[in-house]
Amino acid sequence: MTPQAHEPGALNGAERSRYARHLALAEIGEAGQTRLKRSSVLLVGTGGLGSPAALYLAAAGVGHLGLVDFDTVDLSNLQRQVLFGTAQIGQSKAEAARERLLQLNPTVQITVHNTRLTAANARQLVETYDVIVDGTDRLATRYLVNDACVLERRPLVSAAIHRFEGQAMTWVPDGKTPCYRCLFPAGEQAVVPSCADAGVLGVLPGVMGSLQATEALKLLLNIGKPLLGRLLVYDALSLSFQEFSFRRRTDCIVCGDHPTLTHLEPENDMAAIDSWDAQQLASTLSGGNIDGLVMVDVREPYEWETGRLPGSLHIPLGQLPGRLAEIPDGRVVFICAGGVRSLSACRIAAQSGRDTINLEGGIYGWAAAFGPPPAP
Ligand SMILES: [Zn+2]
Repeated sequence: MTPQAHEPGALNGAERSRYARHLALAEIGEAGQTRLKRSSVLLVGTGGLGSPAALYLAAAGVGHLGLVDFDTVDLSNLQRQVLFGTAQIGQSKAEAARERLLQLNPTVQITVHNTRLTAANARQLVETYDVIVDGTDRLATRYLVNDACVLERRPLVSAAIHRFEGQAMTWVPDGKTPCYRCLFPAGEQAVVPSCADAGVLGVLPGVMGSLQATEALKLLLNIGKPLLGRLLVYDALSLSFQEFSFRRRTDCIVCGDHPTLTHLEPENDMAAIDSWDAQQLASTLSGGNIDGLVMVDVREPYEWETGRLPGSLHIPLGQLPGRLAEIPDGRVVFICAGGVRSLSACRIAAQSGRDTINLEGGIYGWAAAFGPPPAP
């Protein structure tokens, strides 16, 4: 036994074998591997992105992994969420992930957070980890993770996927690096592709989640050049990577010179709002399970004229606060073009005590899955 083996966190013999290919790298070596062993990473979401990221981080010997997921494994997840097998259908994703990761590397400590990340718990969750890997497929959660990381000064590796395209960026609290909101300020949210709609190539999150794991390891080891101020865009169809530089906005509401977003407001919590994708809405409608379900389209009249989901009511978002009383009792599915205005509608209605669901991806997502809805 070497003297180091007695130090807390030092590598034992089995670990030296397990991580031999890391120890052979001058950039990692025994010091780096020991550093990984003493490090922690929080994975927000254990789905398409979180699966490969978690597998590689556990394999790499990151000592403590936190898993945030409140979802259960569904058959339709298995096309890309490689943490799970057919036998896990119906199980808690976070618990099933924990089991799989411990099979891979029993020396890693896994903490399961079987909960939805919300404004009420986000800061508390991120503050205890060294690096945060965001693999959520929900736009509102992506902003929430960004805000929590900026406020708690926790490094963040963010990625998103859409059809055949992925994007990734990294943020660190150095006062210079632009955050996710610098890239997509509120109001321009609609340009961010939401992966809840149409579909996604199963291997795409495999590539992007592996890139996230790479970034997380580099940050923990303090090696290489992270994706700071650079948006990496991967196009699987052309097999090409492109990079777009962007800068910190001095007027960014969370990381700018005079931030106005200085704490997370549970009452403004978009991430806590339930959401359905087009498939979920369609299967609910086709299952005839529509008692007590009301669909409200909040687009502008010119958009409504181009096509709408049969049976939906029309109340443009600007008129919603004054017209809430017109909405019949029941759960309200709000619909807009891309799923962003409908999220605001959910918030407005939720404040009046209504039970709301956001149609993620909106009419675009519906059209991509089922073709454009009929015009009148
Ligand atoms: Zn910012």
